[in-house]
This record gives sequence, structure tokens and C-alpha cells, in this order.
Amino acid sequence: MKQVRLPSGELLPALGQGSWYMGEDRSARKDEIAALQLGLDLGLTLIDTAEMYAEGGAEQVVGEALAGRREQAFLVSKVYPHNASRQGAIAACERSLRRLKTDRIDLYLLHWRGSYPLAETVEAFAALQDAGKIRHWGVSNLDLADLQELWQVPGGSACAANQLLYNLGRRGIEWDLLPWLRQHGVATMAYSPIEQGRLLRHHGLRDFARRHGMTAAQVALAWLLAQDGVIAIPKSVTPARVRENAAARDIVLGVEQLAELDRLFAPPTGPTPLEML
Ligand code: NDP
Repeated sequence: MKQVRLPSGELLPALGQGSWYMGEDRSARKDEIAALQLGLDLGLTLIDTAEMYAEGGAEQVVGEALAGRREQAFLVSKVYPHNASRQGAIAACERSLRRLKTDRIDLYLLHWRGSYPLAETVEAFAALQDAGKIRHWGVSNLDLADLQELWQVPGGSACAANQLLYNLGRRGIEWDLLPWLRQHGVATMAYSPIEQGRLLRHHGLRDFARRHGMTAAQVALAWLLAQDGVIAIPKSVTPARVRENAAARDIVLGVEQLAELDRLFAPPTGPTPLEML
């Protein structure tokens, strides 16, 4: 399976699992845990969550899914911008660790840019790293200007990843942000890789998928996996879809197929404001 290298040299699987909307409804809990565990069994070992999701509920679900198999997973969580102060980020991380029932988060991200200076958040992340509570840190929803500012902050260039809205229908980052991230060795995590399901209604994509013997979700995921330095984190609580998504790893889109997708979903022709969900 394709892997993406972090600045430290560590390799991550390029297809993982999301967890937004998990933990909101107790009656769905068993299915959510089972879906995450099925994904782990299939090698989707990178699991993305956040303190925001169900206000800690998703982290609890992930913690339960990882019971007895924490070592198999690369765990990503995120701090709310309003908790991202020097002290606040440390306290938030400790709460996340308790909900996740683990002693460390593998990658801890600033969920989006808020009002605390980046320098303060970076200081907190460095302190958490020194304490062994997080292994790597990164950001989410930061655009090029934010990253350039981050690189001026002491320790800011230790940022390992930027998690961004990126899928066939949202290609704006290809203009300047994605090239910059590649140039600086920062991993890109593509969130909402199938646009929360909406992309699958696209007629051209459905037709493409039918003609090439794939599902529309598999095309969307295989296309992301074809992009250098990009990790995709689809979320599903439906076992058949978890399997379908995992199988996208085996699809290698050819040059002709990629060109056809470029005609269906045009790459950017100029700078595009960063989009987020
Ligand atoms: P996705 O693009 O992953 O889509 C998830 C939705 O699509 C769910 O409703 C799921 O349904 C459905 N789905 C999944 N696979 C299939 C399939 N093969 N066929 C048909 N439907 C399918 O959206 P998300 O917004 O969840 O993004 C993925 C993850 O990225 C999140 O869960 C979260 O971890 C992260 N994220 C991060 C953000 C950030 O700001 N950093 C913002 C948004 C997301 P079902 O579960 O019912 O099967």
C-alpha cells in the first residue's frame, strides 16, 4: 500500500479512517467501533479524530475501538483553536488522552487557526512532545500565508502535516499550497475525500467508475492516492463501504484515466482561497 513519509522519516499508510459524527448517538456506538476495528483489520491503521467531534464522544469511540490493539494504530487528534494556548493545549491534550485511553497521540493537530498566536501553540506542542504525550504535531485548514508565518515561529518548521479539504471537486490547493507542502516535506491529509458522500452523485464520475469497473468512491480515493505526499481519511460506519474504500488501495489509475478525470474535474488555473468544511 502507498505510504507517505513524515519529515521525521516515519512512513504512514496513505489510506486511513475518519471519525467525524461518530460518538453522537449511543445506539450507533457498537457499529462505529466495529467499523473502525474492521478498518484496522484491513490495514486502515491511521485513525483521525478530534476533541470537537461529538465534544469528545468520537475520541471515546476510537479509544474503545483501540482497546488491546493501540500499537496497531497511528492515532491523530486535534485541538480546538480556542484551547490552543500555551496552557490550554496541554490541558486539552490530557483530556483527549483520557478519552482515547492511551498515553500518547501520534499526531496532534491545531484544528484551524484561531486567535492564539501560532508561537504559543507551537510552544505547547513542543512541551507535549518533550513529555512524550504526542509524537508529532501539525496543523489543519492552514493556508499558504499561515504556513509561511508558522515557518517564522521558533520551532514552527517542525510541523509534520497539514490536514485539508481536498478531493476531486476541491482541487484549489494544487495551485500553490500543495506544491509548497511537498517542497517542505510536510504530509498532506485529505479530509472529506468523497465530499461527505456528495461527490458520489456526480454523473461524470459515476459514468467513469462504471466504465472502468470501480465504484465512484474508489475512483475518488484512488485519485487521491495517486497524488504524491497525500493521505486520504474516508469515514464510514458501514462495513461494506469500509471494505470498498480499503480496496481502493489496489487501484492504480493510468495516465489516460488521470487525464480523463482532469477533464471531468478541472485543476485550478490560478490562486484559489482555501476552502474548508
Ligand atoms: P467523507 O468524504 O469521508 O464522507 C463520509 C460520508 O460518506 C459518510 O456519510 C459515509 O457514510 C459516506 N461514505 C463513506 N464511504 C462511502 C462509500 N464507499 N460509498 C458511499 N458512501 C460512503 O467525509 P468526512 O467529512 O467524514 O471526512 C473524513 C474525515 O476527515 C472525517 O471523518 C474527519 O475525521 C476528517 N475531517 C477533518 C476536518 C478538518 O477540519 N480537519 C473536516 C472534515 C473532516 P457512512 O458512515 O454512513 O457509511
